Amino acid sequence: MTLDFLGSLERSHRCGELRASDAGATVTLMGWVNGRRDHGGLIFLDLRDRTGITQVVFDQSVSAEAHAKAEAARPEYVVAVTGTVRVRGEGLTNPRMPTGEIEVAIHEMLLLNDAKTPPFSPAEDAIANEEVRLKYRYLDLRREEMQKNFAIRSKVAMAIRNYLVEQGFLEIETPFMTRSTPEGARDYLVPSRVHTGSFYALPQSPQIFKQILMISGFDRYFQVARCFRDEDLRADRQPEFTQIDLEMTFPRQETVFKVVEGFLRAAFAAAGVELPAESFVQMTYDQAIQKYGIDKPDMRLPAMVDLSDLFSTEVRSSLRIDSSLPIYGFVIPKAGQLSTTQYKQLIKDNRVFLAEQFKVTSLDILDMQRLSKPDSPFVGLATDIQIRVDEAKDSEGFGDLAGDDLLIVITPMLDAPAAWNYDKQWIPKRVGALRLELAKKFADRHGLFAQTGTAKDFRFLWVTDFPMYEWNEETKQWDAAHHPFTSPHEEDIKSGALWNDKGAVRALAYDVVLNGTELGSGSIRIHRKDVQSEIFRTLGMTDEEAHQRFGFFLDALEYGTPPHGGIALGLDRIVMILAGASSLREVIAFPKTAKAIDLMVDAPTPVSELQLRELNLRIAHRN
Ligand code: ASP
Repeated sequence: MTLDFLGSLERSHRCGELRASDAGATVTLMGWVNGRRDHGGLIFLDLRDRTGITQVVFDQSVSAEAHAKAEAARPEYVVAVTGTVRVRGEGLTNPRMPTGEIEVAIHEMLLLNDAKTPPFSPAEDAIANEEVRLKYRYLDLRREEMQKNFAIRSKVAMAIRNYLVEQGFLEIETPFMTRSTPEGARDYLVPSRVHTGSFYALPQSPQIFKQILMISGFDRYFQVARCFRDEDLRADRQPEFTQIDLEMTFPRQETVFKVVEGFLRAAFAAAGVELPAESFVQMTYDQAIQKYGIDKPDMRLPAMVDLSDLFSTEVRSSLRIDSSLPIYGFVIPKAGQLSTTQYKQLIKDNRVFLAEQFKVTSLDILDMQRLSKPDSPFVGLATDIQIRVDEAKDSEGFGDLAGDDLLIVITPMLDAPAAWNYDKQWIPKRVGALRLELAKKFADRHGLFAQTGTAKDFRFLWVTDFPMYEWNEETKQWDAAHHPFTSPHEEDIKSGALWNDKGAVRALAYDVVLNGTELGSGSIRIHRKDVQSEIFRTLGMTDEEAHQRFGFFLDALEYGTPPHGGIALGLDRIVMILAGASSLREVIAFPKTAKAIDLMVDAPTPVSELQLRELNLRIAHRN
């Protein structure tokens, strides 16, 4: 087949643009053949570009030459066509296509390129095999859904940039080739050719650089920053991902919150969602654990309710419930009327869930159906529980407790291990996990996770006052709950708790949470050398070690460091939510698989002997 040259031909329109009002116009479109229907003397091509699809028609009697080219065209061929827009005949319009009222009668066509038969058709909506999609990513990205996702991504990123620049932020780039950064994951390393045996590390985040930019007086910094973390990949992680990273001088937590709420509002508006003007809800970490059993509450569902005080010592003892541990209930709305058998099965399944997930059998589920029977000695208790839960549900805006709501009450049994007594989060965390599990199970019934395309779909909140440290029972050491530059609460420094009561120290750290997902986290930072050294010491780092790893930063702290703080939000995740996509891979143009492989370019790969020799590296093959 002879291919044509483009010559000086230019597009007059894109494939998604033409409407009935364009009828009569002579137009030139270019794009890919999405589909082809051959009716002999008449051939229809669907022509596709990023903006949409237009039906173009070749009539042999109008141009035999163009018709012959259309006959030769196959899916994914690249063509240019010139013709006249006309309104489609009665009954031939396609209301599902924005261009469905018109077609273009072609008198000239250029065949610009042919295409092999693709392994899957970009014209199809869903392609099952993701590996094939990733290997032929260029074809996958031609699909309408992917084109839409990346259009959203571009708009969202631009809206955030514009907002931040308006707020006085400067966009400053920080290096990719640097040294180990403190986010706690494994680094990706880059060997130095010039300095044998030395390595750069790719940044896990721009954390130290952005703090140094504050020391440098830039006042407000942001970056759409690529971060690299060599972690064992969980379902929805990528080894490299993009953060909206920002830092500011002299902020209170609220200053950061306001900026983030502002740019999220701008980002959502760019994707067509108007968020309400009110500030996001705020909740301390302790409140989140007590009310939701998790540090990233999903507020689309009613919270847990503490029912402990409704259970007297006698009741506890006759129901074989621990005498003092907390008892929580929660409601899954509209789970449906369950028969006794279904209810019993549900209880059984949940016991199995608790036992399998947490290796405990000491948390039990109260049989509310049995408890509420008129002849039950506990009918009064059952009524009290229902009243309490009803009030809570109503006060959260979920309406009264209804007959088809599922009420679950979890009780710690008599044989509860004593260890629970010192870990106040143990029980609520497990109840919280069951709450989410059941909410997922009944999602179709309650519909609370369904997207309606309105602001109601998005329940944001700030979680504040995280603990500064977590006790590590294995190493018998305090671990940092965040990166080690996170400042403790001023009161906890003043009170001396920082030195004498580590478990009680609260961090000036905050997360922004959306629908049960952590979108971002940040903190007010340490700006004093004495506090920073104490944190390193607590984390088990000697002064020498701290100096070896972060000496340049500790030095910088001594040259007039202003109070500062910031945050980073995952751009990929924000876009994923706004695009309604099911995974991060749907919104990253060239993502990696769960095994950290790029199937299209086939990376990582071994490198040549010569490359290794230049780097003074040798691969030691382990058996
Ligand atoms: N560097 C932190 C992170 O990547 C965010 C921050 O504290 O600003 O999670």
